[in-house]
Amino acid sequence: MKRVRKLLLAAAIVLILCVLGALMTSFGFSISGDGGHHAVVGFGNYGVPPRGGSCGNVGRIYPSNPFYGWPVQFRKCDWAIISAYFCTPNYFAGYTHWGIDLASFWSLDGSENIYGAAIVSTALLGKVKIVGVFSPPKYNWGMGNYVKIEAWTPNPNNPLQEQCSDDPIQDLNSENFYICWAPVADSPDECSGNPAEDLSNGVFDQCWHSTVPDCTFDPRTDYAHGVLEDCWGPTGWIATYMHMLDATVAEDDWVFHGDVIGHVDNTGNSTGNHLHYQINAPKWMNVGAVDPAPTFKCPGYDWDKGVEEGR
Ligand SMILES: [Zn+2]
Repeated sequence: MKRVRKLLLAAAIVLILCVLGALMTSFGFSISGDGGHHAVVGFGNYGVPPRGGSCGNVGRIYPSNPFYGWPVQFRKCDWAIISAYFCTPNYFAGYTHWGIDLASFWSLDGSENIYGAAIVSTALLGKVKIVGVFSPPKYNWGMGNYVKIEAWTPNPNNPLQEQCSDDPIQDLNSENFYICWAPVADSPDECSGNPAEDLSNGVFDQCWHSTVPDCTFDPRTDYAHGVLEDCWGPTGWIATYMHMLDATVAEDDWVFHGDVIGHVDNTGNSTGNHLHYQINAPKWMNVGAVDPAPTFKCPGYDWDKGVEEGR
């Protein structure tokens, strides 16, 4: 029962997440007949919405937060397309906005609709946790079509790297030899199966290979070498991208920084095309949602006040 109440509360919070944020920009386009409210189609829910946080953390930088960069290929670093900030005071009374809304650009000199813009992964290395994308779209607690990505970071504490050296003689002396080295498959005839003997015969390199993963900590290279999960570890940091049109990734996919994961739409509880972008700290930190603005690493950020004028 307690869990049900918790879910309902979370749902109520997400329900109103983006309505106001999108209103501002959808207004201009609804005049031109371009706004299109095709939000609520299916009323099913898949997964759970990310939790809220604390508005005392506006503008706060978490050094362990691995997400960075502008999450959509649309008017990069143009603060004018942000229609609702983290904890914006200009939101529905009684509700708090736990992410950032990136919406269409509206100006008398010419407008640009964000509909269909590519959404990109913002982790150096990410693993797709949930793809809540359906056709027709589900309501999904207001999130509409959404994707959750967990950031992975280099794991320098690989136990093998600590126990092993590059030097077989040293490893033989430390008694760690057989966890640090293994016989080469289909080893040549001159291999004795005895590492000390192979060493003294000068054939060690043909007969044994190191078991220590060769980590470059460049995710694409490590992926190509098949050592991603040896060299990198999950962080518990989650980015959620909401109101999407589609997803171009599947659950458990690896994604690199800048990879397209889907496109912007207006699904779920939303009144205009926009991306709701939310970053949540790992559960163990008990922080919840954090302010994405500093992670954009864009000029024009007021580090003392957060990004919004007068806040
Ligand atoms: Zn939003």
